[in-house]
Amino acid sequence: MTDHPAPLSLPTSDWESWLAARCEGNLDEVRRLAATLADASGSRSSEQTLGLWDGLGLALREALAVASLMSNVHPDEDVRSRAEQGEQDAARLETAIGQDRALYEVLAALDTEGLDDAARRVHELTMRDFRRAGVDRDERVRQRLREISERETSVGQEFDKSIRDDVRSVRVDPAVLDGLPTDFVEGHPPGDDGLVEVTTEYPDYVPFMTFCRDRTARQALVTEFLNRAYPANEPLLHELLELRREHARLLGYDGWPAFDAEVKMIGSGPAIPEFVDRITEASGVAARRDVDVLLRRLQRDHPQVTSVTAVDRSFYGEVLRRENFEVDAREVRRYFEFAKVRQGLLDVTGRLFEVEYVEVPDAPTWHTDVTTYDVLRGGQRLGRIHLDLHPRKGKYGHAAQFDLSPGLRGRRLAEGVLVCNFSRSLMEHDHVVTLFHEFGHLVHHVLAGGQDWTRFSGVATEWDFVEAPSQMLEEWAWDAAVLRSFATDADGSPIPRELVESMRAAKDFGKGAYVRTQMFYAALAYQLHQQVPDDITATMLDLQAAYDAFSPVPDTHFFASFGHLHGYGSGYYTYMWSLVIAKDLFSAFDRDDLFDTSVAHRYRDRVLAPGGSRDAADLVADFLGRPYDFAAFQAWLDDEDPA
Ligand SMILES: [Zn+2]
Repeated sequence: MTDHPAPLSLPTSDWESWLAARCEGNLDEVRRLAATLADASGSRSSEQTLGLWDGLGLALREALAVASLMSNVHPDEDVRSRAEQGEQDAARLETAIGQDRALYEVLAALDTEGLDDAARRVHELTMRDFRRAGVDRDERVRQRLREISERETSVGQEFDKSIRDDVRSVRVDPAVLDGLPTDFVEGHPPGDDGLVEVTTEYPDYVPFMTFCRDRTARQALVTEFLNRAYPANEPLLHELLELRREHARLLGYDGWPAFDAEVKMIGSGPAIPEFVDRITEASGVAARRDVDVLLRRLQRDHPQVTSVTAVDRSFYGEVLRRENFEVDAREVRRYFEFAKVRQGLLDVTGRLFEVEYVEVPDAPTWHTDVTTYDVLRGGQRLGRIHLDLHPRKGKYGHAAQFDLSPGLRGRRLAEGVLVCNFSRSLMEHDHVVTLFHEFGHLVHHVLAGGQDWTRFSGVATEWDFVEAPSQMLEEWAWDAAVLRSFATDADGSPIPRELVESMRAAKDFGKGAYVRTQMFYAALAYQLHQQVPDDITATMLDLQAAYDAFSPVPDTHFFASFGHLHGYGSGYYTYMWSLVIAKDLFSAFDRDDLFDTSVAHRYRDRVLAPGGSRDAADLVADFLGRPYDFAAFQAWLDDEDPA
């Protein structure tokens, strides 16, 4: 049964031992393969050498996947700590492998003449990785690079942990909840002191900032929210930025952005601020219009206010949507009951990509909230997915896809996990969009799980392309025909078509300002890494003034909880870069029939399934029949009246 690999068997108890054995087993396999490769006594063909090398990469990736997932989701703190240790062990070994001269020499000496294109690409990428790891530098430099990598990993983990653990709250009079949805009010009874606790976790924060009519209470909560992990993360961020700059300079780059961008679609460090400025320019008119409208409406209630900040942004955005587009989010969320949304998502993507999801109710998982499905096509199992969608203590606080196992044709079943923090009852439509987005990563991971090389398996394309498939899938969560297939209220009536049209118009309201805020974040991530400033707060405020359409909330330190500074480094521009491409990809679909499977299947086969086997620009060109461009994105920005 070589073409039907089995799923990973997860334990029913004693996760700590299982995790330790899994990580150690994988890392021992890495060491064993490294020793075999470095031993030149046996004669091997180029294919065999590359095969061993790819097996080494597989074992490393498997160790990292499980450790990273468990450190973020396991309910038991001891297991999470063991997983963090596994991540550190794997990262340390990865660094050592990347700098191993004996391995480098074996692979550099490989005769690539007889290799096929895929194997030759694996070899080229491997040589590039070795160079970027500093294998050709002298021992002193390599030693320092090892120290830096190790410290980068642990500082990054501490940075993430401060954000995760720093849940803050405000206590408010129950009357302040006036205007919030009934289920929110019911879920927040007053305590012994007669006050209600509202936390900075998303299921509290998002509805509170959207619906709470009490401006002082919003100010209090947003101030807590934007100060999460402050001041704890400030020295950690300083250290991380300095480590990364030193890291890049030791390898001959002028700074971290140049090093990082070399392996992205964008290609070079200076191309990042050029892109940011190009998008800022393109969105200028739309952004000014958006903020003017918000400010005028805000001043009707609060004439003394002269600028729009995060205190009022969501609330008045919602007020205007209700007044101008007749979209009331409380009315909208009646149609998004969690269980129906989850099933709807599976039905929609199943139809689109021609797969079937079959629940595996007895599959062991790390928490009872997790639901597991096998992904089948034509009765054959392509992968397995685990959906972990509700908040709990100690769990990753955002929404993301994690790998559990990379897929390889005939050898490994692709397994992936969605980790989100959604309500168990009614969902905001924003969260429905997030669910589609994250599921886009998951389906990419599974559909690209049929490659022969680990290097190409799953979401293995350039990092500034990886958001495009997810951003494109968001379009399905805004389509009336798609939503009406699952979004029904308690009586079973589907969401009205006109309401969805108004929601779309309301969504596009504010897009100029949204783009500018994103460019502020992108400029912040780039400039912090390029300049490595002494005063991070001052740099943040300068860049907010230059790029954002909104003003800062006084005495807040958003950078301390900006987790992407760790995960994406200087590459936050990625989201907008991907969106430019997502808009272009979407232009190939028939907007009046998003279930047109001929386009969807071509997209699946030419963009998703190839994983990292070709450059993203080539995948996109293969699907579109031309190179990508900015036209669809610019048209979206310029479209003033989307309704
Ligand atoms: Zn994403």
